[in-house]
Formats: sequence, structure tokens, C-alpha cells
Amino acid sequence: MQLYNKLSAKEREELIDNAGKDRLTLSFYKYAHIKNPLNFRNQLFINWDKLDVLGRIYVALEGINGQLSLPADNFQAFKKHLDSIPFLKNVRLNVAREQDNKSFLKLKIKVRDKIVADGLNDTSFDVTNKGIHVGAQQFNDLIEDKNTVLVDMRNHYESEIGHFKNAVTPDVDTFRESLPIIEEDLKEHKEDKNLVMYCTGGIRCEKASAYFKHKGFKNVFQLEGGIIEYARQVKDLELDNKFIGKNFVFDDRRCERISDDVIAQCHQCGNPFDVHTNCANDACHLLFIQCESCKEEMNNCCSTNCKEIHALPYEEQKALRQGQGNSNDIFKKGRSEHLTYKKDLRNIFETLSKSS
Ligand SMILES: [Zn+2]
Ligand SMILES: [Zn+2]
Repeated sequence: MQLYNKLSAKEREELIDNAGKDRLTLSFYKYAHIKNPLNFRNQLFINWDKLDVLGRIYVALEGINGQLSLPADNFQAFKKHLDSIPFLKNVRLNVAREQDNKSFLKLKIKVRDKIVADGLNDTSFDVTNKGIHVGAQQFNDLIEDKNTVLVDMRNHYESEIGHFKNAVTPDVDTFRESLPIIEEDLKEHKEDKNLVMYCTGGIRCEKASAYFKHKGFKNVFQLEGGIIEYARQVKDLELDNKFIGKNFVFDDRRCERISDDVIAQCHQCGNPFDVHTNCANDACHLLFIQCESCKEEMNNCCSTNCKEIHALPYEEQKALRQGQGNSNDIFKKGRSEHLTYKKDLRNIFETLSKSS
């Protein structure tokens, strides 16, 4: 029985092209107690491979977190399978706003310690004691309240290209890093302010809201389904859109445009631009924002140094990389002293003084 992906990305691309069918990109997560994650994972693989599901799915003792695509024709069968699993019955599926048939090219279901790499010690607090979930309309009302502090729970390279108006956007590389910073900055306001938070699809807020409640915050709210679901509700219910720019997503699409505002700049020339790219030098692969003209001038590289290395014959590049760890991580932190226009996003105190 096949339990692992066997096709290369290229072979898969051809299959998708030849099938000529629309695919649906979606995501979901659920905290639940899964007794035998490996067994559960194998069952998912067998069922989903048959339905031509592609994506990146994490299974852990604490639950499941999946981002995937499947032929639109198979959606009902997929939903039926999810509903057959008690804790996934009627789980909310975040359907992507912009569809791309090639958002995923492999089916990877992995057993992990956690469904999100949050670096938190779970036993220290109860994850199920989470904040109040709010939909788009209630969220809009809450963030107009001057007693509200709105916090973006994502990382710097995500909030850089899009965030809610007036949100605090901690300048952090990781989720774990943001929690104590936010707690410290808001410690005088644990009882008098509404702490309202959001993230991409809601999963980070599940943990963060439980964490802040554990730390003594009294009024903790979280945007249900995150920016993805917010955008859907705003469109379907014709609500005011308070999100500016693009929503960064963790698949090959990289982002979904929510409003026409371009709030970021090319890190090399400073012109308005909001498309992330990875430095073409394989030894660097830095995630950064580069406009079309800088792309051309720099040959897709983040610095003159990388440009020179990238221009060398492959064998020489390889020799240079010897002994240096593999940095082939497309979501590498995205900071470099070479990036003249990379903004410092940390504005937590400014926001607080404005609101009080
Ligand atoms: Zn530029
Ligand atoms: Zn580089």
C-alpha cells in the first residue's frame, strides 16, 4: 500500500495540467486528542491520496493542521470523509480566496510533536480555555472601540505586506517570541482593555488567547478563522473591510490580496511593492521584497555578494557552500543588513499611547 508521495513536483504539475480540472485550495485545523498519530496519519494518506489531495498536513497528539488542495469535483467526497471522523465533523474549512491549481504539488502528511511550532510548554496552561471567538462584523465593532488593543499574532514578514488598520504588529520572527513581548507591553492593561487578536487562519490565536488568559488578561477575543475567513465574510456579507494589503499564506501562492493598498516597499529601492521573493543564491535564499526593476538589476539576488556568487558556475557555488548548513528554507526570517528599506515594524507603544 502506498503511504507516501511518489511523484516529483514536475510530474505532478503535468498531471494537473493534463487533468484540466479546477482545484480548490483550503485549510483547516483542530485541537483534539489523537491517540495514535501515525496510525491516523496513514489512514488520512490512504483516503486522501485516492481523492487526489495535495498539501502539507501536520498530525500530532494535540490535533491536526492542514493546508491542501483537491479537485473541486472531489470536494463532497473529501467533506464526507472528514465528517466521518468524530472530531472533524463540521470542522470549519477555510477556502482560499484566490485559487491556484498548483498551490501544492505533493501530499505530505507528517507526524509532529505539535501542529504548530509554537515552542510553548503545553502543560503550563489549558489550551482549551481560549478567548472569545468573533466573526467579521463583531470584530469590526470591537476594533472601533477605543478600549481595544488589536494585536497581530503573525511575524514581521507577514504583517509587513498587510494587516488590520491600527493593529500592533510586533517585529518578531516567531510566534513564541511575540507572546512575552505583548504581555510585557500590555501588563498595565490586563483588566481594562480588550485584547483582540488575529492571525492568518486562526490557529495561532487559539493558543495565544489561552496563553494570555492564563497570564491574567480578562477580555481576550480572537478573530475566528483568521484573516482568511474575515475576507470571505466581508465579501459575502458586504461588510466594511478593515484589512489593508495582502494576507501572507504558507503555500506557493505566498499571499492573497485583500485590499488594493500596497503598504510595503521594495527592500532594495524603497518603491512601493509587496511581493516576496527568495534570493536566487542557493546558499542564501533570504525571503525579502524585491520590485521588478531591482530584480532585473540584481539578478534576483538580495545583495551584490549574493549576485556574484549566483553568477559563478554551479560547481564553484557548491564548493563555497561546503560546510555551511543548508539554508534552503523558503520562510527564512527575512532580515539582512543589506536590505536598506526593510522597515522596523515594532509600533506597540505608539499604538497604545494613541488609544489611551
Ligand atoms: Zn526595487
Ligand atoms: Zn542573498
